[in-house]
Amino acid sequence: MKIDILTLFPDMFSGVFGSSILKKAEEKDAVTYNVVNFRDFSNDKHRTVDDYPYGGGAGMVLKPQPIFDAVDYLKKDSKVNPRIILLCPQGATYNQKKAEELAKEDHLIFICGHYEGYDERIREYLITDEISIGDYVLTGGELGAMVVIDSVVRLLPGVLGNDESPIYDSFSSGLLEHPHYTRPADFRGMKVPEVLLSGNHQKINEWRENESMERTKNRRPDLLEKYLQEKNKKADPTD
Ligand code: SAM
Repeated sequence: MKIDILTLFPDMFSGVFGSSILKKAEEKDAVTYNVVNFRDFSNDKHRTVDDYPYGGGAGMVLKPQPIFDAVDYLKKDSKVNPRIILLCPQGATYNQKKAEELAKEDHLIFICGHYEGYDERIREYLITDEISIGDYVLTGGELGAMVVIDSVVRLLPGVLGNDESPIYDSFSSGLLEHPHYTRPADFRGMKVPEVLLSGNHQKINEWRENESMERTKNRRPDLLEKYLQEKNKKADPTD
């Protein structure tokens, strides 16, 4: 996968792409990151990227020219039709399903906003997806892009040590994941559930499924309802 990021603050990405699994993913050739300062594409002599809003009002608006030109440049080299993703609090709220969908693509371009917002023509004519990472307002799209990229890259084949592990993560199955324990079996009198020490894999799986259900019921009843609806639909597609 090729990932391009258009930002005014490229330095913000070096820690994230230079550490842990995202770094290893690039070393394993599963992904390449290309962080581009779209100020470099501004065609005025002061390299400005923003301007006052038509009609007045507070804040500055990102101009269309530098962003359209930067995207044109990145698309020229691409063998595929890239997904062009705008980080935006007004976008669809991000979730694991969207991460799984994006992980199937070969080329993603992220556009990180700043200031008051974007010229609306970027939203109308340039992008393929608009993503919000939650109902709150950040100062810029960079942290949002990092969240999306992290969750997508860990799903790429070969990136995680055990290829199966993302399947059991919270949300992938539709439920929250079961609890985990490690050694010691007794820590300050706090004991690991007996069944996990039993060596009986059928019983362990049953316990995990049960815990996963209970946990989802208590913490995210909305998820459980959706999960049960989909399960029923699969069992009886005419329903
Ligand atoms: N005035 C805008 C509004 O009310 O919708 C908010 C602009 S915000 C201060 C600046 C930039 O941060 C946005 O253009 C976007 O790129 C990013 N941003 C802010 N909140 C976000 C969120 N929840 N998810 C994704 N990106 C966000």
